[in-house]
Amino acid sequence: MNQEAKAPAHFIRHIIRDDLEAGRHSAVMTRFPPEPNGFLHIGHAKSICLNFGMAEEFAGQCNLRFDDTNPEKEEQLYIDAIQDDVRWLGFKWHGDIRYASNYFQAIHDAAVELIQKGLAYVDHQDAEQIRLNRGTLKEPGKASPYRDRTVTENLALFAQMRNGDFAEGECILRAKIDMASPNINLRDPILYRIRKVTHHQTGNTWCIYPMYDFAHALSDAIEGITHSICTLEFEDHRPLYDWCVENVSCASRPHQYEFARLNLSYALTSKRKLKQLVDEGHVNSWDDPRMPTIAGLRRRGYTPAAIRNFCELIGVTKADSLVDISMLEFTIRDDLDKNAARRMCVLHPLKVVIENYPDGQIEKLNLPNHPKDESFGSRTVPMTREIYIDQEDFAEIPPKKWKRLNTGGEVRLRGGYVIQCNQVIKDAQDNIIELRCSYDADTLGKNPEGRKVNGVIHWVSADYCVDAEVRIYDRLFTEALPDANRDDGKTFLDFINPASLTVLQNCKAEMSLRDCEAEEVFQFEREGYFCTDRHDHNETATVFNLTVGLRDSWAKEQEK
Ligand code: ATP
Ligand code: MG
Repeated sequence: MNQEAKAPAHFIRHIIRDDLEAGRHSAVMTRFPPEPNGFLHIGHAKSICLNFGMAEEFAGQCNLRFDDTNPEKEEQLYIDAIQDDVRWLGFKWHGDIRYASNYFQAIHDAAVELIQKGLAYVDHQDAEQIRLNRGTLKEPGKASPYRDRTVTENLALFAQMRNGDFAEGECILRAKIDMASPNINLRDPILYRIRKVTHHQTGNTWCIYPMYDFAHALSDAIEGITHSICTLEFEDHRPLYDWCVENVSCASRPHQYEFARLNLSYALTSKRKLKQLVDEGHVNSWDDPRMPTIAGLRRRGYTPAAIRNFCELIGVTKADSLVDISMLEFTIRDDLDKNAARRMCVLHPLKVVIENYPDGQIEKLNLPNHPKDESFGSRTVPMTREIYIDQEDFAEIPPKKWKRLNTGGEVRLRGGYVIQCNQVIKDAQDNIIELRCSYDADTLGKNPEGRKVNGVIHWVSADYCVDAEVRIYDRLFTEALPDANRDDGKTFLDFINPASLTVLQNCKAEMSLRDCEAEEVFQFEREGYFCTDRHDHNETATVFNLTVGLRDSWAKEQEK
């Protein structure tokens, strides 16, 4: 695979370029319009990269606009988190944060304009009647008995709705379009409904709230959006979008373009389902490192560059598809291979006493911080008589082609000497608790005389190391498509991987790792990429999260 993501041509890029070249627009204006009802996920990252990316590329602007037309489900927590995510990804929105609710007055006035033009009416049918009368794909809908009210009557009723004279559900405002339209979205869609709730931005100013389609089209027009980019499920709504901006006297005439949403294997891309994972305690929080949220990926050690690169690699098309999660893992591995300093950390420590190494002697070994990039410099790693190696790097009875340590065998300590194991010490339960070894003092930086040592293992000094908590993450789901429609009634909750989190205590890390900041990423040699936890790592606790392993071990497991 190509290491550097180049900007591939895609249809939205073409459309924008053509529009600018033909002079249809003098500048591009896009927007990212999240509903603040949850944290953003990797699917939203695709939309963010596209909307902000196109604006950046064509020297335009991108607004961040909260679609806050559903006040019951929205929270300030989400509004803050979404801004953090966009900023963290490296994008800058144009001017102030916007809210659809900023335009409630203008949207209300547009509704009045439609009524005046005979294009909207107040309907007293209840939700069930409206649903029944909407018809089906094969049958046209039935006109509401209230459809032919006069303009004067509709204006008065809408004013009463706005004043709170009706209860919730008693009536709604509908567009008067075409009850026989083959597109059900045009069968007199609802424009306004009554909700007697306090809104996080507008308080109790309003008790009627516009529907998404109406509010969205008008917000775009008010902000002068040129290219309103959304996901494919809105394709059938485009005629309604167009109807709204054509029939209301708006400042501008935006156009909607649809692209395929991102679906990612072993992950969910639905805020509602992710919220369920949080609310029911299947994960610890929205930013749990197992979550496919932007905040979760960040805490896991993903970098903005890797996520942006991923979004370029997957491209923008009009065909729905499933992206394999290994592609996301590829992008972070690729980034960190270049950009993460190397360190040693022993995850499952086994004490090794080097019996012929002088007691009390400390040698300062110099190890490069990056094997391929000298600009990372080097560091000093102390060598002492007692060290730790990983339990997995020792076998009493080695399997074939074993390149690590075994009884009587030799191995090289990374950046240090060749050691040989002479004796295995066990506890009463027959567990190996210590190895007695010797070292060849003539092997620092050179091969031993007359014999070949194959393996190199990582290690830390037992006297100069720090105890670390290391959280090992695996995929959150055991199924590639956890929320696929199924016959057996199982849901994504039935496929949560019980081994998605393993917490290792008392790992032995190089001393320097104690003093690193939160959110620093390292390669632990021979183990993978790890980052200090944003929340839990501090001066008194060294806490690492596994970002990703060195190789795509999952794919190999599946082949077995
Ligand atoms: P969810 O179902 O997760 O709540 P949504 O589409 O309802 O998603 P919004 O907050 O309305 O969430 O989305 C903001 C923008 O992000 C929209 O333009 C939407 O089309 C886009 N978006 C949402 N999910 C994806 C996805 N999986 N891939 C690409 N874009 C997405
Ligand atoms: Mg939504």
